[in-house]
Amino acid sequence: MTVLRTGSASDTGLVRSTNQDRSLETGTLFAVADGMGGHVGGEVASQIAIEVLERAFGSQPSSRGLTEAVESANLAVWEHSQDHPDLRGMGTTLTAAALVNEDGHDLLVLANVGDSRSYQFQDGRLTQISLDHSVAEEMVRSGELSPAEATVHPQRHILTRALGVTPDVVVDAWTVAPSSGDRYLLCSDGLTNELGNNQIAEILASRTDPQQAADTLVEAARRHGGNDNITVVVIDVLVGEDQAADAGPADQAAAAPSEGSSAGRASSGSPGTSEDGPDGISTALDATGIVPVVGRATGAMNPPPSSVRRQRRKSRATARRRERGRRLVTVRSLVFLVILAAILVGGYSAVRWFDVSSYYVGLDGNELMIYQGRTGGVLWYHPVVVERTGVTTGNIPSDPLTVRALRSGVQEPSYAAARAYVSGLVATEARTRTAAAFGADRPAPVVLPGKPTATLLGTAGTAGLAVDGGH
Ligand code: MN
Repeated sequence: MTVLRTGSASDTGLVRSTNQDRSLETGTLFAVADGMGGHVGGEVASQIAIEVLERAFGSQPSSRGLTEAVESANLAVWEHSQDHPDLRGMGTTLTAAALVNEDGHDLLVLANVGDSRSYQFQDGRLTQISLDHSVAEEMVRSGELSPAEATVHPQRHILTRALGVTPDVVVDAWTVAPSSGDRYLLCSDGLTNELGNNQIAEILASRTDPQQAADTLVEAARRHGGNDNITVVVIDVLVGEDQAADAGPADQAAAAPSEGSSAGRASSGSPGTSEDGPDGISTALDATGIVPVVGRATGAMNPPPSSVRRQRRKSRATARRRERGRRLVTVRSLVFLVILAAILVGGYSAVRWFDVSSYYVGLDGNELMIYQGRTGGVLWYHPVVVERTGVTTGNIPSDPLTVRALRSGVQEPSYAAARAYVSGLVATEARTRTAAAFGADRPAPVVLPGKPTATLLGTAGTAGLAVDGGH
């Protein structure tokens, strides 16, 4: 009888505006999902993945049930994105752990797709169980990059495998005998991007309570930058299977259902037979008794026949390209679009302001017009008629300079100034005529008819005409 004690914590971090991570912590099933894709897509994807995982595993609580539950979650996310065009391209990571009982043995089953991680913390030593499905980590596994190089590789966040991107997904799975005192950690990359393995191990060692450990991990990741959503689940094995049960997982692994690949290749399932491991990982894992489930684990840990591997590599390359494209679209081009939009809006506003903040008086036939804008227009902005004054060239001084100026447009800084200019012309002419007729210098009051077009103007309409010789 295995007894677990668990804790979990999740935080948006200091940079992101939403938390697209989701976690699950039930009595026997635990998971972390890190959603991605668009404004709400990430949240939707991780939420669906967790819900479907829980439901599907509930109806089949076995090691096979867990990997099939992950496959169900994958299909559910993918179908949802097909039904909702605005969510196309969303996806999520999913790393899960489940306690199952098979053939009378308790067994911890771990499954993973993406770059969220599962770790085992045993006797003060932290061992990563899951393999990141990211470009950089796969390059490390193939020897193209050193682990140190991988931590700063520009493509370290680009996934080669994710949940919900295609209708099918390859799920990595491992089984391990739960041993008293062992601690397991599930986490999103928001933790591992900020904290190194040593820092994580230190915290796990210093906090006995799993909830405290979870809280402290999240807090430490926030302090180290908090550049991403941070989610952790800590699972303590208080009472484990006795060591004699260790044969269980190996048997289980050998008997585990394999789907279309590497049938009978169970050698990596036996602790100690690590010579088949093409890299250091399986050796380390075998030493801890963690067993990749045959046919489910990645090619690196459990090489399938060459034909299968080639096929997988091809689809992986496709997925990688797709992933790369998708992430670039979501992040880089979003930034570009925002900047572009800012420039356009800024430019638009400046031009608009330059245009709108000016008026001029021009002629339409013989009638004096007040226009908003610049004479001749600015870029695609054409002047707008604000007011037909009703004043004709017959009402104003007929000197050729004035008329010529009006023909090309007399720029004024404001609507009120434009009206004042017209009024001034009328008043000058009226004064001239009055003087001519009566020899007096008292000008006739002149008021322009009509009201300005209100929609274009705020306060300018109240400026009115100041021409008033009498008062
Ligand atoms: Mn993340």
